[in-house]
Amino acid sequence: MQTAELESLLKHHFGYDAFRPLQREIIDAVLDGRDALALLPTGGGKSLCYQLPALASNGVTLVISPLIALMKDQVDGLRANGIAATFLNSTLDASEAAACYDGLDRGAYRLLYVSPERAVMPSFLARMSRWNVERIAVDEAHCVSEWGHDFRPEYRRLHDVRERLPGTPVLALTATATTRVREDIERFLRLDDPRRFVGSFNRPNLTYRVFEKRDALKQLLSWCTARPSESGIIYAQSRNSAEELARKLVAAGIPARPYHAGLTAAQRARNQELFIRDEIRVICATVAFGMGINKPNVRYVVHYDVPKSIEGYYQETGRAGRDGLPSECVLFFNGGDAAKQRHFIRQIEDPEEREQADRLLRKMLDFAAEPHCRRASLLRYFGEEPGEGSTCGNCDNCLNPPDEIDATIPARKLLSCIYRIRAHSGFSCGAHHLVDVLLGNATDKVQAWGHDRLSTFGIGTEFGKDDWLALISDLLRRGYIEEGEHRTLQLASEGMAALRDERAIVYTRPRFLKKSAKRTRGSREAVESLSYEDALFERLRVLRKGLADEQGVPPYVIFSDATLRELSGRKPKTLQDFRATSGVGDVKLERYGEAFLAEITAYDAARTA
Ligand code: ADP
Ligand code: ZN
Repeated sequence: MQTAELESLLKHHFGYDAFRPLQREIIDAVLDGRDALALLPTGGGKSLCYQLPALASNGVTLVISPLIALMKDQVDGLRANGIAATFLNSTLDASEAAACYDGLDRGAYRLLYVSPERAVMPSFLARMSRWNVERIAVDEAHCVSEWGHDFRPEYRRLHDVRERLPGTPVLALTATATTRVREDIERFLRLDDPRRFVGSFNRPNLTYRVFEKRDALKQLLSWCTARPSESGIIYAQSRNSAEELARKLVAAGIPARPYHAGLTAAQRARNQELFIRDEIRVICATVAFGMGINKPNVRYVVHYDVPKSIEGYYQETGRAGRDGLPSECVLFFNGGDAAKQRHFIRQIEDPEEREQADRLLRKMLDFAAEPHCRRASLLRYFGEEPGEGSTCGNCDNCLNPPDEIDATIPARKLLSCIYRIRAHSGFSCGAHHLVDVLLGNATDKVQAWGHDRLSTFGIGTEFGKDDWLALISDLLRRGYIEEGEHRTLQLASEGMAALRDERAIVYTRPRFLKKSAKRTRGSREAVESLSYEDALFERLRVLRKGLADEQGVPPYVIFSDATLRELSGRKPKTLQDFRATSGVGDVKLERYGEAFLAEITAYDAARTA
């Protein structure tokens, strides 16, 4: 099919003007009747790769999707664009399922979403042969692999579907890119000489930041209250802390709910639904949350505790900004957290498992302390060369580079002070006491324990208290120091070795200690007044929510935030103008054009009045 033809289908049905990277190539392969494997990051636009071909041909496209909760949303989204789509899964009652089967027998649908369990049922397979199934799309194809994060045994039986429909091409899609998973997909789905498409895993609209975690709760509240009308996900390590954070946010006036495996399935579904429908702003969750959330307007993801691996971090932060608008990823981190995680890992009994966990954590901690471009570091981790220049201009380190200081001497003073205290008293002390000794503060405790008589008393006046605490945090992260009971500090064998070998130590001075720290977008204040454009955006959002509730669909099914942003920026006056907006296809133009134009006009009139 010609490019112009495909582009006009894209605009007519979906309202988009251009393809995202690789969409065009994947669609070409699909239309050519080839088997294909598409690896695109979250938000890369995978669905379109089988939805558009479904509209360019006559039969029905079978979409295997593992997430029952998502199927309805996806079908609602397609129907909002006037596309005949349906789904079959265990949530339908007998008469709904019968109606759906009848429609399929009549050839009434272009897309059928089906769960893998249903797809391999003999009754389904028998009936399916009567439909004109043109191609099969296997979404979340990594579920076929035990190496992936959500193995689903039923996926292994999907080749049965293929065997019933010889010669029908298969498109497998996933955002999980490891080689092992990729090989499993090709093997178990029995792809025939597939074309392979691997997109870049860079997410240019995401800003990556790491905040030194000090008074974490206060930091979190000020982050969220500065963004009162934006959706965000807070990841915490434990169920308890997810619960507590949700309570604290609610008390601070931010509509929030928890999500974790300790809630009943009904509570989880309810909280997720509230989030997707923009009834609450924030979800405070453990890693149990996320699979199958394709809410496109998540504006930030905060990691309240350090994740166990970069894979997890990338996946969780990836849930921000699917709609392509600027979104923020924030990690709260300090050396104490690192020590805590290491402590958990030491309890793992199986040595192989323990080593693996330790390896993954180490990489994550290196990322947290990375002094250079964080995006480049992420991409390299996933085996991708960051491309031109090694700075992205959109992470904390690029926006506001930290200082790197040769701290060999201060670090030696610190390590030997820990050693001397232990040698003198037979016990270890906490960070603040240690800093008092280094600075020569003869506090009551220092005098009572005789630490003012140590050779290291008062030898550390080149640093202030904050720098000493930050250096301690840095050395904890690197494993030179360990935390014992009651957060007392002890020399680890690494620290001993560093002292003995006179190792050079570079300390990355945290950004918050820089006097002239620039204010970046992330630190804007809650009081910042709304611009005209923002105010219009809010009005359009209210209109959208009303329409969505009337139709019983999530707001993003009507229009994405990206579309509302463009509308509030351009303020179209005519239907023709309105159609030029990204995300406005012909069906939505007809259904919603008048209502949104009227709102824009009313807003303009009120402003000029
Ligand atoms: P994925 O499944 O790869 O995570 P989706 O298929 O859910 O991504 O697409 C993410 C978002 O991007 C959706 O809101 C979708 O409508 C939008 N999108 C897809 N393709 C395009 C395009 N060519 N132009 C603009 N937006 C697009
Ligand atoms: Zn960068």
